[in-house]
Amino acid sequence: MDQLRIKDLEVYAYHGLFGAEKELGQRFVLDVILDYDMTQAAKTDDLTASIHYGELAQDLTHWCQEGKEDLIETLAYKLIDRIFLAHPLVQKVSLEVKKPWAPVPLPLETCSVKLVRQKRRVLIGLGSNQGDRAANLDAALAKMAEQHIRLVQASGRIETEPWGGVEQDPFLNQAVEVESWLAPQDLLQTLLAIEADLGRVREVKWGPRVIDLDILYIGQEEIYSPDLIVPHPYAAERAFVLQPLLEIAPHFVDPVRRKSIRQLWEAVEK
Ligand code: ADP
Ligand code: MG
Repeated sequence: MDQLRIKDLEVYAYHGLFGAEKELGQRFVLDVILDYDMTQAAKTDDLTASIHYGELAQDLTHWCQEGKEDLIETLAYKLIDRIFLAHPLVQKVSLEVKKPWAPVPLPLETCSVKLVRQKRRVLIGLGSNQGDRAANLDAALAKMAEQHIRLVQASGRIETEPWGGVEQDPFLNQAVEVESWLAPQDLLQTLLAIEADLGRVREVKWGPRVIDLDILYIGQEEIYSPDLIVPHPYAAERAFVLQPLLEIAPHFVDPVRRKSIRQLWEAVEK
């Protein structure tokens, strides 16, 4: 993809673990690369279709001087958040924060961290069968929007019978497509924190819940880690997942089963 780069922008700021670093400050050097499609800007020669690198450099300087973080990792993460928020065009950010005056009494040139984050389209399944179910789904979506998870489209809500053998009340289910720059594990942690925030307590496996937020698909990615499996292992077996998905992503192809949502829906037990 097309890239804009600001190389080695120097900022005097106050980040560091030691009190002296927060008091005296030091040099930080930023190297940032933004990926976005420049076709529109190139064909129209229109600055508003582009990203003004002068303003971006000013903003980065300002954002870098706003707070005092212990870690340059924290600083880099916050800067990436600010960049995505200010520039919806941007698909990917690569940011290196260098600290040439890092308090290490050895002859090194610089210490640095580099974070790379990119936007992904994610399909999420929501479910609730306790309390005010519609209000729980609304609250979960509102919290997602506050935490770097932007809603792209939402299915209608359907009432479904519980699945998995536990005797309990019917569910209200929904599927949404979102866009987020959070890395998959970060996205999972964010969703689990929202579940906890809304009062979910894990007692019985597949038992009643105030809110359930499942990552169904992350584009064509496949992830097999102890706490995150994508595509969601049961997505293709659950009519209550496929029915709302059919509404918003009928042609999406499950990368493991190699079938579209429509084909999976036609095959699922209903
Ligand atoms: P379920 O949704 O199957 O009823 P839970 O909501 O209780 O089960 O989820 C239990 C665990 O499943 C979570 O703590 C999480 O680590 C794990 N998990 C694995 N893959 C996923 C995924 N794709 N989406 C959400 N949670 C997942
Ligand atoms: Mg779940």
